[in-house]
Amino acid sequence: MTTVLASAQPAAPAAVNGSVHSWDLSTGVDGPGTRFVVFTAGCPLRCVYCHNPDTWAGRSGQRMSAAEVLALAGRYRRFIGAAGGGLTVSGGEPLLQPAFTRAVLAGAKELGLHTALDTSGYLGARADDALLDATDLVLLDIKSFDPAIARRVTGRGIAPTLAFARRLAARRQPAWLRFVLVPGWTDDPDGIAELARFAASLGNVERVDVLPFHPLGAAKYSALGLDYPCAGVTPPSAAQVSRVRAAFTDAGLLAV
Ligand code: SF4
Repeated sequence: MTTVLASAQPAAPAAVNGSVHSWDLSTGVDGPGTRFVVFTAGCPLRCVYCHNPDTWAGRSGQRMSAAEVLALAGRYRRFIGAAGGGLTVSGGEPLLQPAFTRAVLAGAKELGLHTALDTSGYLGARADDALLDATDLVLLDIKSFDPAIARRVTGRGIAPTLAFARRLAARRQPAWLRFVLVPGWTDDPDGIAELARFAASLGNVERVDVLPFHPLGAAKYSALGLDYPCAGVTPPSAAQVSRVRAAFTDAGLLAV
């Protein structure tokens, strides 16, 4: 007689649990169309301008199974599908929980939804090919091409993100690059020009979102008893934002 141990059975993908900070519907910022966005809890970076420091700790989230997330998304399936939207896994950092993220993305594909992964790419090595196969679009947040600036802004190096960007390019995986323009932190013109050249060389970057810094979230820092690194930083002017968009368009990219 053969004894089969329950633990030897792989969990059904939808049964994989994750730590979820929140979920929401959004339009225009988390991929094409109206999206069901699930924000995972936990992030290894500490971006100085982060709007959501309350997502940093993995334990800040509620335990949910991928099936529970997909049941929520399924309620809006027709609405978001009709609007050319889909499902986005964001964070925090979704690749801190790759099995959960993979299960949610794969399940969303089974529901017939367009899927997007919003990531800093710092943990890109944790995304296996199955996860990327279930991802129609990667929203890749590159904080700076300059290693020193990236470290100053995030507390971590940029090399893993750039390696992930190259891997996506080799897979010809559609990507939107996202760049947050923070005066005094990420506005070095040479660094931006280098980033634009790098992004253009990849061949899979469909568009670049230049996101002006805004001190949203400052109140969350004080509520958490944290200093806000961007206190006193003012949002960039429209002319500054236009100049940065032009740097990307000059490199042959679509920048919005
Ligand atoms: S990667 Fe995103 S969630 Fe993490 S610290 Fe940076 S802005 Fe915040």
